[in-house]
Amino acid sequence: MNELLDACAEHDLDCYPREACRRACEMALNTVRNARASGDLQAGIDDAFWLEVQEHLEVLPQVQMCKVINATGVVLHTNLGRAQWSEEAQMAAASASTAVMCEIDAETGGRGKRDGAVCDLLAQLTGAEAGLPVNNNAATVLLVAAALGKGRKVVVARSELVEIGGSYRMPEVIAAAGAEMVSVGTTNRAHLKDFAEALKDPEVACVMRIHPSNFVMQGFTAEPEMNELSALCKEHGVPLYYDLGSGVLHGAALNGLEDEHPVRAMLNAGCDLVSFSGDKLLGGPQAGLIVGAAPLVAQLRSNMLTRCLRLDKTILAGVEATLRLHLLGEESAVSRIPALNQLSQSANEIKSRAEVFVGQINAQGIVVTSELVECQGRVGSGASPIKDLPSYGAALTHATLDAKELARVMRVNKPHVFGRMQDEKVVFDLRTISGDECATILDMLGRLFSAA
Ligand SMILES: *Cc1c(COP(=O)(O)O)cnc(C)c1O
Repeated sequence: MNELLDACAEHDLDCYPREACRRACEMALNTVRNARASGDLQAGIDDAFWLEVQEHLEVLPQVQMCKVINATGVVLHTNLGRAQWSEEAQMAAASASTAVMCEIDAETGGRGKRDGAVCDLLAQLTGAEAGLPVNNNAATVLLVAAALGKGRKVVVARSELVEIGGSYRMPEVIAAAGAEMVSVGTTNRAHLKDFAEALKDPEVACVMRIHPSNFVMQGFTAEPEMNELSALCKEHGVPLYYDLGSGVLHGAALNGLEDEHPVRAMLNAGCDLVSFSGDKLLGGPQAGLIVGAAPLVAQLRSNMLTRCLRLDKTILAGVEATLRLHLLGEESAVSRIPALNQLSQSANEIKSRAEVFVGQINAQGIVVTSELVECQGRVGSGASPIKDLPSYGAALTHATLDAKELARVMRVNKPHVFGRMQDEKVVFDLRTISGDECATILDMLGRLFSAA
């Protein structure tokens, strides 16, 4: 293999990562072995072999979803694919892309439950009786509204009739689920008595609360305490569902994101069902995760929509690995899940990394120079929308190109690097750049902007 890898250079394939070359050579070697096994003794390391290696290598960079470096300082950048998976989640998903223990029981050889492990982990991590994963959190709202509310009524506070983006608006989701929406309170205030009034109607099947996520209300506002609302719902025998959005499983360590409520706390406050995203503050693959009372979760599971919204086996594996990291405890989760790790970094830690990075850029003697700047990052994906994450970055200036053009050059280059504009400079925020990525960026800058 080492000889083949060295020979890659002679065939102009050394522009690809060594690991990719190794995989491609292995696949082409398999072709040769198969050809020999079926009697073609001419097959060997010839032109056809190298052509196949090249074809394997060319597919990867052509895939639209190719790697970019998120230097924006927005941790969960929706346009850059939200949460970056942990190594563990990546490996689990890659391993699950072949034949896997999906819906089978090894002991009996009979049918097993596809998402059994994820359901157990969700229950364990949140203290809920049961859990259920579906395609995304938008889907959980649709599913809950349909499974509990179809042909009946769903009560929502007017202040929580949010639009998430991509034409996803609560009133329309509830209507699409076949439920009638009853909105209570006013734009800025909803009181317990408003809900009490609505719950007099026996047609009400569910009370839905929605975390504001992507906006904040300030001033003369009011909403009922969750435990009071829960007591009221119990009195009427109507389930209380909270669409939480972000899905925080651990308390602290998240740089004080006061607006985000831990899942467990909301269950303890009396919510019967809580749902959240897999790729926001949970830091894993896209998924919608529902936890709560066993009979309600069973009712959701038996709804036809659950089958329509089910997760791919690789995603389930990635979700499971992510949940297992959370199960190891807050410290492990924060150190190994990129989103949590980036959020937990203090401005001072980032500053020292940024100083080193700026020095390295300037030491290259290229036509781009760099200076240390203070900047503000964001959580992203609609979590804690007005919270600034104080950070430091490298502000880049090119000898002749203006900032817009400089940013474009680095965006279209491979690997694509996305920074932020600040004071007519391109800023790379060190919060969202790993050590390896710093090295890659340095390499790229050296190649693109050498003074010679
Ligand atoms: C983000 C969010 C959603 C949508 O979740 P996806 O996982 O993006 O589908 C729904 N509700 C709330 C409150 C959210 O914050």
